[in-house]
Amino acid sequence: MSIKGEDLCVESVVTAGNMPSASGRAEVTVDLDALRHNVDVMKQHAGSAQLMAVVKANAYGHGLVTCARAFRQAGVPWLATAHPEEALELRRAGDRGPILTWLWTPQGPFTEAVTAGIDISVSGMWDLEKVLEAARGSGRRARVHLKVDTGLGRNGCPVRDWSALVDAALRAQESEVITVVGLWSHLATADAPEHPFLAQQTVLFHDALDIAECAGLKPEVRHLANSAAALLLPDTRFDLVRLGLALYGLSPAPNRVTGTSLGLRPAMTLRSCLAAVKDVPANHGVRYGLEYQPLTETTLGLVPLGYSDGLPWHAGDTGQVQVAGWRHPVVGRIAMDELVVDLHGDRPRPGAEVIVFGPGDAGEPTVQEWARAAGTIPYEILARVAPGLPRIYVG
Ligand SMILES: *Cc1c(COP(=O)(O)O)cnc(C)c1O
Repeated sequence: MSIKGEDLCVESVVTAGNMPSASGRAEVTVDLDALRHNVDVMKQHAGSAQLMAVVKANAYGHGLVTCARAFRQAGVPWLATAHPEEALELRRAGDRGPILTWLWTPQGPFTEAVTAGIDISVSGMWDLEKVLEAARGSGRRARVHLKVDTGLGRNGCPVRDWSALVDAALRAQESEVITVVGLWSHLATADAPEHPFLAQQTVLFHDALDIAECAGLKPEVRHLANSAAALLLPDTRFDLVRLGLALYGLSPAPNRVTGTSLGLRPAMTLRSCLAAVKDVPANHGVRYGLEYQPLTETTLGLVPLGYSDGLPWHAGDTGQVQVAGWRHPVVGRIAMDELVVDLHGDRPRPGAEVIVFGPGDAGEPTVQEWARAAGTIPYEILARVAPGLPRIYVG
């Protein structure tokens, strides 16, 4: 286990001055056993589909390279990132398996990606041209997944241009410049399975597959589902499911099904310590605008974490943290580097352990609770945890 409680803050004194990072002030613990366990759980929900672990946004804040390695060890054949830099970083770290990357700009870098054997998502003619140029220039056949926009309106080829893209890709495949490895799309309403748009998108995806297959494309994988769809909509699983949130241990559709009932284990714990503890009289103001004024004499605790560390400003007055084993409310707005809790008469010492969120096993708040407190989604709570906070890997 990692440093805890008082030691955490002693360490910060020792390292202050030579460590601009958060060492000692706060840390993010990532449970790699939980990640591997979640892979096993999701294998059971994926039917015959293969798993793709989505490790975009620094593996949803958990740490790109270490998490990718844990997923591979757990038998996940595919990885995916949004940005090419993330995929290239995985290659530099020694990953040799398939990695799909979907968010391209004309800057690429297409040549590096083709040379590194990254699977490139292509949504239209401009990116196909870039890939062909890179493949011809590097003498290496590019691996491509053609993406159709079935209604989400992000990237993906509009349905009316799909046949032309398919034909162009087929010609490039016949001249051995590319291999069309996959055909894919992304759902807009997977967390609400009753939504009529879902059926519509699935039909459009089938139509796009028919067009491609009639033209002569025989891709290795066809894929549509994210975590929510993999769990709730068996018809969307096709050959491969792209899983993010569920692998990190949270339900992607908390109104439908909880992470606990699925058997998922949240992998991340965000821990800090009290920087100050003090008694204040009734009506003593707390924070900017004196937003909080305790009705009676109380004890306040100062936690050295704020929105620059990724905590949501909106969770002021609604979030909770666990201090020395007991939950207490965040009072006043969360500031740039710090937040205040009302300890309601408890008197832990400076340095006492503060758990901002964790799996919830010991009564600490969860990521889901923080999302609710801030009026956002758990994805945002995880992805915003500052990369500068040290990640400690256990398991
Ligand atoms: C982020 C993302 C996923 C994973 O979504 P989850 O809801 O976290 O499972 C899958 N596909 C695409 C295209 C994505 O952008």
